Amino acid sequence: HDFADFNLLPPLLSALERGGYKKPSAIQMQAIPALVSGQDVLAIAQTGSGKTAAYALPILDRLGRLAPQRHPGAPTALVLAPTRELATQIASVFRQFGRALPLRTRVACGGLPRDGQIKALAEGVDILVGTPGRLIDLLDGGHLHLENAGLLVLDEADRMLDGDFLEDMARIAAHLPDKRQTALCSATASATVRTLAQRLLHKPVAIEI
Ligand code: AMP
Repeated sequence: HDFADFNLLPPLLSALERGGYKKPSAIQMQAIPALVSGQDVLAIAQTGSGKTAAYALPILDRLGRLAPQRHPGAPTALVLAPTRELATQIASVFRQFGRALPLRTRVACGGLPRDGQIKALAEGVDILVGTPGRLIDLLDGGHLHLENAGLLVLDEADRMLDGDFLEDMARIAAHLPDKRQTALCSATASATVRTLAQRLLHKPVAIEI
C-alpha cells in the first residue's frame, strides 16, 4: 500500500512527499480509508505510531474538497488534546500537510493569551485544536460555536481523563452536532476510555496497533 491508494487530494500527496513520508504506517493504513469513507474510528495507538497524520490527512482531504465555509467562531473540525504542547504539535502537522490548501488551523489552549484566540476565532477558523478547559471557557464566553464542527478528534484521550475531563467533555459534546464523524485515539483501552468511546462514537472501526 501507498499513500496514493487513499485517493487523497494531490496537494496532500505532495506534502507527504516533501515531508519524507514514504509508506503509510500501520495505523495510517487502517485509519485513513475508514475516515475517508466517513466512519468513526477508535484507535488504540501510542505516540510515534503516526496517529496524527492518520486523522489529519482525512480531515484536510474532506475540508479541502468542500467549498470554503468559514463562519466566525465556528470551526468545521475540532481536535481535543490533553496539553498545550501536544495541541501545538498537532496544529503544526495540520499546517504542514495543509500548506497548499486554503484552510486555517488555530490553537485554543490554556497558558496562551485568551485575547489572541478570541480574535482568531472571530476571523474564522477551519480546524481548531484545543485543550478542554480553554474550549469551555471560550464556549461559555460566546466566542466559540460548535454547531458546524462535524469532524471531531480526541487525541491521547487517556491523558485527558483525570480531574473533570468527563464532565468537561460532556459539556463540549452538548454543543457538537449529532451528525458528525468522530475519531478517538488513546494509548490504552481503559474502562473510562471505553465509556467515552461509547458516548461519543457511532459504530466505530476499532484499530489496535
Ligand atoms: P505521531 O505518532 O503522530 O506523533 O508521529 C510520530 C512521528 O512519525 C512524527 O514525527 C511523524 O512526522 C512521523 N511519521 C508519521 N507517519 C509517518 C510515515 N508514514 N512515514 C514516516 N514518518 C512518519
